[in-house]
Amino acid sequence: MTFSRRDFVKTSVLGAVAGVGGSALPTKADADDGPQNQPSRSGAPKPTIICAHNGYAYVEAAYAFLKSGGDTLDTGIRVVKGPEDDPNDDSVGLGGLPNEEGVVELDACCMHGPTRRAGAVGGVRDIKNVSMVSKAVFEHTGHVMLVGEGAERFAVAVGFPRENLLTDRSRKIWLLWKEFNSDRDWWGPGIADPHWHPPAEQSKPQAELWRDRIEHLRQRAADLGIEPDFQMAAVQRVLFPPTGTIHCSVLNEKGEMSGITTTSGLAFKLPGRVGDSPIIAAGCYTDQDVGSAGATGSGEENIKVAGAHTIVENMRHGMAPQEAGMDALKRIARNYNGDMTKLRYVDMTYYVLRKDGAYAGVSLWEGYSEGHPHTFVVHDGTLRSEVATPLLKGYSQEWPPFPPIPEDLKKNSEYLK
Ligand code: ASP
Repeated sequence: MTFSRRDFVKTSVLGAVAGVGGSALPTKADADDGPQNQPSRSGAPKPTIICAHNGYAYVEAAYAFLKSGGDTLDTGIRVVKGPEDDPNDDSVGLGGLPNEEGVVELDACCMHGPTRRAGAVGGVRDIKNVSMVSKAVFEHTGHVMLVGEGAERFAVAVGFPRENLLTDRSRKIWLLWKEFNSDRDWWGPGIADPHWHPPAEQSKPQAELWRDRIEHLRQRAADLGIEPDFQMAAVQRVLFPPTGTIHCSVLNEKGEMSGITTTSGLAFKLPGRVGDSPIIAAGCYTDQDVGSAGATGSGEENIKVAGAHTIVENMRHGMAPQEAGMDALKRIARNYNGDMTKLRYVDMTYYVLRKDGAYAGVSLWEGYSEGHPHTFVVHDGTLRSEVATPLLKGYSQEWPPFPPIPEDLKKNSEYLK
């Protein structure tokens, strides 16, 4: 997530706005049919893993497990457990950025195609591997979804350890946010509210405002003991609270499929806020007869279009993976009547895998900034990272709204690019 998303939007979004009327959105994908929809040509499907970019380091080992006969859901768990266990991935599991009260709350859900079972947990504190807890829900109960304290007690009962998920680094970033940014949080009005307006012009020159604000925050980051190399990254997380999640869909050579999604959700969210990730049909959906899909990005928007389910249903009715994903993205855009002033604060990436091994990664925008496109990871015999096909030309902007950062400030920081 980078600062320069916003100034690029000035040109790219304006380009995209022209001609927008409700559902008639100009799309990059319409003009550019990517190479991502090729099914396997052999009889049996090629074992395939598709996941979000932060799963890359864990896919090779998971693929070997899949090839050796490992279950598709257990394969997905091997991928997503990597970021869950990594204290430096601050979007998932241990080290996830906390809610506005400084408490890490995790969400996850999964679907096991071969047995057509599903499990989900939401708002879980103190339990790191919520992906595995979501599987335990269907293994050990007759329920599909458990939330909050009940989900935690269930996890402990089936053997998951309680542990502190707030790393020192995430705690300091939260403190920085509390001290300097708490008036720019997730209380309303949100962009979907009819009373929401874009920010008014500031009286001070923008460059001056930014310089003051960034230097002030950087100094406080230093005072809080955040290591010098990470101070600007911490400032960035405070100014533009990041999202982050991992989804993984898996297919084996028997044609069995599973999907799983896990997250710490939006940084500094309201306590109890649950996004799309643990919602079966939004953050993840797998139908053994059709395919599997999952999502990362603006959870509130994805819930409203039941994104993963919409995509799988689209494929059931004959759409190719890319087309199916694009249709879900168009529904998100339609919910704002194609209003680019609002849509630029929304972003979404879908990971789509059809039962025959055809796949696609699609995103609402091209990425966060030029040179930082949305990517996803695929392994179907060869591990690689691919660029997602965007619906809209241009780059999304971080929420909350803020005026553009001056060029000279960006040039002077590794993180403010
Ligand atoms: N979708 C997640 C949520 O809204 C966040 C993300 O994917 O970045 O909680």
